[in-house]
Amino acid sequence: MVLPIKMVDFQRSPYRTTRNLVRSSRLVLRSGNYILGNEVSAFEREFSKELALPFAVGVGNGMDALELGLKAIGVRAGDEIITSPLTAFATILSIVKLGAVPVFADIDPGTGLIDIESARSLISSKVKAIVVVHLYGRVANMPQFVQLCRDAGIELVEDCAQSTGAELEGTSAGGFGAFGAYSFYPTKNLGAIGDGGAVVSKSERLVESIQKLRNYGQSSRYVHELLGSNSRLDELQASFLRVKLRELRRNNAIRRNIAKRYFGEINSPHVQLLSAPQSEKAHVYHLFVLLTDKREALSGFLRDRGIESLIHYPVPAHKQPALQSVFFRAGKLRYVERFSDQCLSIPAHPGLSKKQVTRVISAINDF
Ligand SMILES: *Cc1c(COP(=O)(O)O)cnc(C)c1O
Repeated sequence: MVLPIKMVDFQRSPYRTTRNLVRSSRLVLRSGNYILGNEVSAFEREFSKELALPFAVGVGNGMDALELGLKAIGVRAGDEIITSPLTAFATILSIVKLGAVPVFADIDPGTGLIDIESARSLISSKVKAIVVVHLYGRVANMPQFVQLCRDAGIELVEDCAQSTGAELEGTSAGGFGAFGAYSFYPTKNLGAIGDGGAVVSKSERLVESIQKLRNYGQSSRYVHELLGSNSRLDELQASFLRVKLRELRRNNAIRRNIAKRYFGEINSPHVQLLSAPQSEKAHVYHLFVLLTDKREALSGFLRDRGIESLIHYPVPAHKQPALQSVFFRAGKLRYVERFSDQCLSIPAHPGLSKKQVTRVISAINDF
């Protein structure tokens, strides 16, 4: 029997990984310390070292990483935040939850990432920050965004939920702006066995704010300096993440090899591939996305051959029902809707065998 090819396949993670996860969970159980203990601080140290950034603070999830980070840089109700409508809805929610106003820029149709000229055209005196989403695992052209934000006197924020391990010109995603927000949702390139997230930053002051904000705003026991949240990474997830962190580079290298084969071997006239990244390390292929104007037919064709595919994202944020009752601003969105009508994500997870990758390529080329 031919096994189905899934978008993510945790059952295919190596036995060694499972054994190490079980071992670390046992250690946490025995430690008797389940919140903000040694595992969290060890993970924060190891994660910031891996990214070659000075600080990382574990939080409850990726959305909180964004929300707490935005709060820490001073975003308040009524402030405008420029971002892309082609992202996980969590990006937008983190803005709206602070009472801030999302301002939607267009995307670059060749990458799906926020278009810098569109972002530039939306800057007003109310704009406090740009949230650049490193969508699909690809680092945006950050030197340009750094310059834009510096010239405009606004903050630069990075949503790194999909880009764990990616770097551009020697700087990890999250190292270009005021802070980077990471998610360790299980399907992400570095995934926990539950929820988790982190804020990374070069600013010690910002990091100290996050350390308080994640823990009810406490500066010391029972003294609440800020109106914080309950958003702590727990010891068990931190211990799992320490195990998985050791495999991040290898897994990202496998994802890149799969992408290389897709770029080299997919030749269907019905499919358009996105543009290749600036450098190999600038993309970690959280998702491998292609464009097709025959999306339904192609995904059905793949499904019949046991190959799963998904759409990231079928409904851009400004079209979401929940946003219709919220105030937002949008530029001229020339490309977003067509892109979300045509994009299709195909399997690229590191558990895929060479044969399975061949099956995906053949199926697309046979379509
Ligand atoms: C997953 C994701 C988030 C949210 O992360 P959670 O850990 O699920 O809260 C935010 N932004 C992007 C781009 C994501 O992919």
